[in-house]
Amino acid sequence: MSATSKPKVAFYWCASCGGCEETVVDLAEDILGVVEKVELVLWPVALDFKYDAIEAMPDQSITATLLNGAIRSSEQEEMARLLRRKSQFLLAYGSCAMSGGIPGLANQFPLEQILTFNYEAAPTLVNEARTRPQTSFSEAGRETTLPRLHNLVRALDQVVEVDYYIPGCPPTPNITRAALGALLEGNLPPKGSVLAPDIALCDECPRKRSKPAALSFTAFKRPHQLLIDPSLCLLAQGVLCMGPATRSGCGAQCPAGNMPCTGCFGPTSRVRDQGLKILSSVCANVEAKEEKAIANTLDGIPDPVGAFYRYGLAKSLLRRKVNLGANGGPQPRIQP
Ligand code: SF4
Ligand code: SF4
Repeated sequence: MSATSKPKVAFYWCASCGGCEETVVDLAEDILGVVEKVELVLWPVALDFKYDAIEAMPDQSITATLLNGAIRSSEQEEMARLLRRKSQFLLAYGSCAMSGGIPGLANQFPLEQILTFNYEAAPTLVNEARTRPQTSFSEAGRETTLPRLHNLVRALDQVVEVDYYIPGCPPTPNITRAALGALLEGNLPPKGSVLAPDIALCDECPRKRSKPAALSFTAFKRPHQLLIDPSLCLLAQGVLCMGPATRSGCGAQCPAGNMPCTGCFGPTSRVRDQGLKILSSVCANVEAKEEKAIANTLDGIPDPVGAFYRYGLAKSLLRRKVNLGANGGPQPRIQP
């Protein structure tokens, strides 16, 4: 088979940490099998391809693009739109592309507050001139430009249409291998599907038999604050575990490793808002009935947004925090 008759595949990253790229490398020798079957046309983390080469390709000539990372900057939005146009299938790869991920937690703060802290106020910073990155700079008749940061962090499907989702922070090699196999064999579920089992994580958790039918929370503890019993359901030990509100497919590797699930596979198809699902369960099962005692119990969850919406704030019903204007009303709508 000549190189040109193979399916063309692209990998690209936007606002992410690089972990998703590591998973592709973690496929180890399997990646060689994939590489034999496809023609890689873009993978900036590993291979030197140029923007102009992608732009010159006919529309829809890339069989599949796996894009990881959220959309925070003008450059990322431009690349998402370009790759959408050039690809038959666009896959949101990993939590950040699927639902905003950890970068989406920045939607708790206005962009100006983030820039002020990072370039002027951070205690570890030395920046007396208070310089900030500029979007354009001219010197000796030459102009250099940098991407503009958007006000909001968005998931990929809040910018362009997405065909499939591969969850995880990062996705495991197993589900990545299965997704690539399904793509190459044309064995795909309905468009819009998440390529992972549609059952809750508790169903594949080795501790599931000890999960109480009725929970009753008197205190919440973080993993470093107790000696976790390795066989008992974490919720039964007062450790917040997102398992009941999270999609399976990772092999429950965090509870199996004595750590709570933090929800990186996102919700099942029956759950609209992952954070609300576990929040309502927690609140309904706090044993205390008096306001002060309830507050004492919930003090064990010091960062509720980070706990309940660690990977999904940008796609949640909340989506972002809005500061009230001077008269108590909402600020004017902020453009992305
Ligand atoms: S430890 Fe977590 S994932 Fe496992 S059964 Fe309990 S709540 Fe579910
Ligand atoms: S157990 Fe939860 S946080 Fe850990 S990998 Fe699986 S889905 Fe992600």
